[in-house]
Amino acid sequence: MREFDLISRIRERVASRDDVVLGIGDDAALLLPPAGMQLVVAMDTLNEGVHFPAGTAPSAIGWKALAVNLSDLAAMGATPAWCTLSLSLPEPDAGFTDGFLDGFLQLAKQHDVALVGGDTTRGPLSVCVTVHGFVEPGQALRRDGARAGDEVWVSGTLGDAAAALVQWRSDAAADAGLRERLDRPTSRLALGRALRGIATACIDVSDGLLADLAHVCKASGVGAVIDAAALPASDALLTGFDRPQRRVMQTAGGDDYELCFTAPPSCTAKLASLQAETRLTRIGRITAGQAVRARDAEDAGWQPAATGYQHFG
Ligand code: ADP
Ligand code: MG
Repeated sequence: MREFDLISRIRERVASRDDVVLGIGDDAALLLPPAGMQLVVAMDTLNEGVHFPAGTAPSAIGWKALAVNLSDLAAMGATPAWCTLSLSLPEPDAGFTDGFLDGFLQLAKQHDVALVGGDTTRGPLSVCVTVHGFVEPGQALRRDGARAGDEVWVSGTLGDAAAALVQWRSDAAADAGLRERLDRPTSRLALGRALRGIATACIDVSDGLLADLAHVCKASGVGAVIDAAALPASDALLTGFDRPQRRVMQTAGGDDYELCFTAPPSCTAKLASLQAETRLTRIGRITAGQAVRARDAEDAGWQPAATGYQHFG
């Protein structure tokens, strides 16, 4: 198996779209962006041992590589269209590539995303994906629009992926549902789209809630107060871990890929109507000042641990 055999294997399986003039096979792809839309571009890399545990199933790596990128487009309120894939493999491994594509292309199909190009090289196992999508001018959900008095919301549940990592590291019995949340995160694209015109700021939670909310606060020039007792938890997290453990996972654990957003109280009814699709929880409010503070309505003595994951930290 050589580089070009691997590329052929990929090319044979990808689905196209009408706006792909020329996909995999030439020196570059030719794409037709819709008139009048803004192009939204994001890139994320997954390295073995950093972003996924060694031994993770190839299909889960494929799913996650695309999911974390789609999550960034979701957090912008964008609709995805195309992606490119840089694959670095220790060996030209057809079995790995096929499994990887199973997960990657399954998610791509769900969201009608076309793989239009990439690069295939030899090196340590590493996957880098770029996604391209569209948003109407002025409609993107940015980090810099939060205002004092807004409320802070989060989708889904927090801490599940961090809990799965703890179980994996400790050889404790692994809960399959938690592991699924680590391996195959849900990108909240429909929610992100629905939040256009409602949310004043938005971010996807990849490094830990408090760390990511701090990015919103810094960009917006505001502070925030979070009630840790209000943070949504899955049943698996509630039954598997005690409160101090849960609090660390929910506030500082990474890899949730939920959306954290701010909205004025006047939008509460609109947000309630979105609840049928996706669980949404109000977890705090935006304040004047700069600090992100967290308290626990169930435990006055609780203090948040150090903030979330940082490379080179
Ligand atoms: P070049 O040497 O001109 O960069 P490559 O041999 O790297 O061309 O790639 C040939 C074609 O295959 C290009 O269209 C490129 O986008 C595509 N390609 C290479 N690797 C991948 C990959 N991992 N996923 C998708 N497309 C790929
Ligand atoms: Mg190339």
